[in-house]
Amino acid sequence: MLDLRDLQTCTHCGLCLQACPTYVATGQEAESPRGRIYLLRQVQSGRIGWMQARPHIDACMGCLGCQTACPSGVPYAKIIEAARAEVEAHARPWWQRFVRKQAISNFTQPARLRLLLQMARLFGMQRVPRWTARLLGASESVVRLPELPAAEWRPTQMVYPAQGTPRARVGLLLGCVMQVLFPRVHRATIGMLTLAGYEVHIPHGQGCCGALWVHNGYPKEARRNARKLFRAFREVDYIVVNAAGCGSTMKEYGLLFKGTPEQAEAEAFAQRVRDVHELLLDAELPPPKRNDALHVTYHDACHLAHAQGIREQPRALLRRLPNLKLTEMEGAEMCCGSAGIYNLLQPTLARDALQRKIKHIQATGATIVASANPGCTLWIRQGLQEAGLPVEVLHPVEILAKAYDAMP
Ligand code: SF4
Ligand code: SF4
Repeated sequence: MLDLRDLQTCTHCGLCLQACPTYVATGQEAESPRGRIYLLRQVQSGRIGWMQARPHIDACMGCLGCQTACPSGVPYAKIIEAARAEVEAHARPWWQRFVRKQAISNFTQPARLRLLLQMARLFGMQRVPRWTARLLGASESVVRLPELPAAEWRPTQMVYPAQGTPRARVGLLLGCVMQVLFPRVHRATIGMLTLAGYEVHIPHGQGCCGALWVHNGYPKEARRNARKLFRAFREVDYIVVNAAGCGSTMKEYGLLFKGTPEQAEAEAFAQRVRDVHELLLDAELPPPKRNDALHVTYHDACHLAHAQGIREQPRALLRRLPNLKLTEMEGAEMCCGSAGIYNLLQPTLARDALQRKIKHIQATGATIVASANPGCTLWIRQGLQEAGLPVEVLHPVEILAKAYDAMP
């Protein structure tokens, strides 16, 4: 529910404007955080309807660059999630809601996602079909379909023992896209965590964290997913996440369940959620086994940097590799335009953000981009390929696991 008090915290100072990718791209006030907050106040006072505000709410990447930049503490994450739920409820035709929900379902069910990607490959499809994009309300289809990894991976054990005396029991969130497209990242995560002294559990019966649902205005569906995680992760000390968007949503479960009988359980769960970099930095690691010369630039995934405040931990871990050169890119914290399924829904603005990101990556001369969010990784890979740049995009734990020889 949109709260007028949250909107009133905005003092219209404009300090967030240059941190907003949609404002930078368009120069329009209505596509800025301040403009969107103003529009929401107009809706609240009845001067305009949700239909008029919808295009500007839809165009927001939800990147939260504005939340970081804002000196007045405007809770933009809370505002945009509430606004999206209102738009879905009041200003989206039923058939488009249906199509959007189907799209999110396809992403958040690993078996279905895998099957769809296999079928697409069979029919030689390179991109998300144009008709799908049109049905979703987008003007064109710009998103390439990702390649499935050569071999499917499933955890071989329910528990991976810690090396040495266990520091804690952690449960790994397998997630949806991560499980299907990034099994190497899960293996690297298990390898690094066990090396750092954590006993890694892979609980049965987990599923989607609900991030795509809540970011697109469907909190009820997100809560349904979250409840499964509450049950699955009961027995562990921490729930460890290696995807920025999932981690930030899970840390905000208290807000998702606010005012419900499950609020206390959701808050207690959220307090146990850790990003993998947080756990690794807290632990002692032996010296790395390999000393390859690497040139890396780090892309700050929005839901790691702006939503969770995790900026230094991945960089600090990478700096432990003595022969790794870390070159900062300009605008490392600016959204790449992937933003969940934003690149499917808003191709023009998503492409603009991607092109800016690719230009900044290229300027560093790095041969590896470290990125800790699956959507960013896929979208940046696409941008690099289209630009003909021979740059790899890897999760920081993949880089670490190779250097520590920790891949199980
Ligand atoms: S969330 Fe990102 S795109 Fe949306 S208003 Fe804030 S900075 Fe702009
Ligand atoms: S920086 Fe904060 S207070 Fe200033 S205009 Fe942006 S949202 Fe409003």
